[in-house]
Amino acid sequence: MATWGCVKQCGACCHLDPADRPDLDEYLTPDELQLYLSMVGEGGWCVNFDHAARECRIYADRPRFCRVQSDVFEDLYGVEPEELNDFAIECCREQIEGVYGDRSLEMIRFNSEVGF
Ligand code: SF4
Ligand code: SF4
Repeated sequence: MATWGCVKQCGACCHLDPADRPDLDEYLTPDELQLYLSMVGEGGWCVNFDHAARECRIYADRPRFCRVQSDVFEDLYGVEPEELNDFAIECCREQIEGVYGDRSLEMIRFNSEVGF
């Protein structure tokens, strides 16, 4: 069975372009939506994403909606804890495909690391 894990130096989910996520207001609170939009920088990338290191500059303090945790996913998306693994894998694959492409190195690395 594939087991979700975040692969290092990916960052696909830090591409926040709201055009790619038209239903943000359906799952974020108004305050979270405001925070989210304030984080969108050049090219749709999060202003906290370090492109050289390919990692989050505020990782320990990142917002709730950046965290792959069962309580967060249940609250935001109505995903039951036992569904989190498959849901998170699907989310990452969609995001990686959209940002880097279906045959990208990032996708290959993700598939390999989660055992997809
Ligand atoms: S898309 Fe998935 S693997 Fe890539 S940085 Fe985000 S959580 Fe990690
Ligand atoms: S705050 Fe960090 S984890 Fe969240 S989108 Fe920005 S760079 Fe990514």
